[in-house]
Amino acid sequence: MKYVLVTGGVVSGLGKGVTASSIGVLLKACGLRVTSIKIDPYLNTDAGTMSPFEHGEVFVLDDGGEVDLDLGNYERFLDIKLTRDNNITTGKIYQHVIAKERKGDYLGKTVQVVPHVTDAIQDWIERVAVIPVDGEEGPADVCVIELGGTIGDIESAPFIEALGQFSYRVGPGNFCLVHVSLVPVLNVVGEQKTKPTQHSVKGLRGLGLTPDILACRSTKALEDNVKEKLAQFCHVPLEYIFTLYDVPNIWHIPLLLKDQKAHLVISKVLNLASILNEPSLGEWTSRAELCDNLHVPVRIAVVGKYTGLSDAYLSVLKALLHASVACRKKLVVDWVPACDLEKETEKENPDAYKAAWKLLKGVDGVLVPGGFGDRGVEGKILAAKYARENKIPFLGICLGMQIAVIEFARSVLCLHDANSTEFKPETKHPCIIFMPEGSRTHMGGTMRLGSRKSFFNVKDSKSSKLYGNKSFVDERHRHRYEVNPDMVERLEKAGLSFAAKDETGKRMEIIELPNHPFFIGAQFHPEFKSRPGKASPLFLGLIAASCGELDTVLNPASAHQHLISNGPKNVYVNGTPKKSSNGLADVRYNNGYCNGLYTR
Ligand code: GLN
Repeated sequence: MKYVLVTGGVVSGLGKGVTASSIGVLLKACGLRVTSIKIDPYLNTDAGTMSPFEHGEVFVLDDGGEVDLDLGNYERFLDIKLTRDNNITTGKIYQHVIAKERKGDYLGKTVQVVPHVTDAIQDWIERVAVIPVDGEEGPADVCVIELGGTIGDIESAPFIEALGQFSYRVGPGNFCLVHVSLVPVLNVVGEQKTKPTQHSVKGLRGLGLTPDILACRSTKALEDNVKEKLAQFCHVPLEYIFTLYDVPNIWHIPLLLKDQKAHLVISKVLNLASILNEPSLGEWTSRAELCDNLHVPVRIAVVGKYTGLSDAYLSVLKALLHASVACRKKLVVDWVPACDLEKETEKENPDAYKAAWKLLKGVDGVLVPGGFGDRGVEGKILAAKYARENKIPFLGICLGMQIAVIEFARSVLCLHDANSTEFKPETKHPCIIFMPEGSRTHMGGTMRLGSRKSFFNVKDSKSSKLYGNKSFVDERHRHRYEVNPDMVERLEKAGLSFAAKDETGKRMEIIELPNHPFFIGAQFHPEFKSRPGKASPLFLGLIAASCGELDTVLNPASAHQHLISNGPKNVYVNGTPKKSSNGLADVRYNNGYCNGLYTR
């Protein structure tokens, strides 16, 4: 097993995760099998309890692991399936060490950070690195390890120490350290400044780690003299310094690394030369270029709670993007804060209310993502009502499906106080109820988490067609509440179709309105399994329906033709190509534009 460790210096948010996954893509393109481990030095045992507003979305794995969103990046870029153990946190390590101590495994010794915690970290890495994640048997060839945070953080100290020891444990030729750093340009002098990188490399060395490669984030390619200076002061050979300058979209990063021959350098450090082929990145190249040339917009409203931070819905955005690219459309996301659609906002903040409704009424399709807690729920219900009544394509995910059922019960069955017991426990018409897989009385550990099967039981439903007429699908779940089985018959009689259920037939997995152009809700989260070249079927349905092309997607015979005839178009919006600075999509809030979307 060979290891590539990616660390970050100077500032956070440099795109370390994207760099690490791009290195993985490059090595995979050379024919190597790649796995990855993300280290998060925070104390939480997992990301399950962390607020998406503070930390971005909680990513869910097949095994039910609730992990950092960077693992989503790895799964998408490398098309692999990780396990909960591929995300190491300080909390997990300490839990493990303390459990061992309680069992008496340390034989009366004083349990210390060095060697007990540092050994536990190294053992964990070695154990997890060999778990196959690409569907094939046996361990991968290379494990990319990303150390979260920035060099010098107090929390990461035990990990740095452990990784320093680890580089000796695995020996030279098996360990390659890539340090991602920033080379800023000061407006006053207009010069690329190397000092921050010099300092962070110095810090790294001081902590016992020696960088093999520098990956420098900068707005433009590094000037030759700047590279020379870095080489000189950081003691890293010139050809081992790469520039990751700003690109129109993140799919260019593996290409940028390839152009600078990063694969050859890594193979030299890792003694891999004999098994390295020229990277085949044809698909990546065409996708990255295609994406730069998409200008016909498809406008989707995401009606959510955390609309101030796009990372809170990162996988949903990526899934929308994958589907838009598959349909050769430029994704435009209109963030609609669910609260602003509510009657109360009309009184308290009429401008926000008007702006939210104006946004919603201008879109081609509506998506209501998952969520917890009652804030904005009534606004989401109004958005579903608007989409249902006006025949606007709608996709509801998890909570998004639940609110669509509530809306249907209220408007069509005239059960005006229909609700979820999550929001109104005493409701007379509980159409969404607490249905844990485990105990009914304890909240802890009652979440239905991870991969579960949904069986299609309605012939010719749009969702089953989108999933290629399979008899069942395996998608990831993260919820406690579900459609009340006692109300299913009534809802069905009124025209709501339950297109897929779990194996017991008691848990409703997919709802559809057959008499609507596209109105689908899923109890699971299809976004977690979407991949750049393999868009999630339900997202593909939403985007295709939003641009009037659903029939072509539902009819596979004409789908191929569809993609050819819809090849990249250079259509200009208002005379100029419409592009946000991050290239992939425009993300609009009702108070302006935000370009934070594709930093990861
Ligand atoms: N809060 C809802 C539940 O627990 C929905 C969860 C979600 O959207 N992920 O069932």
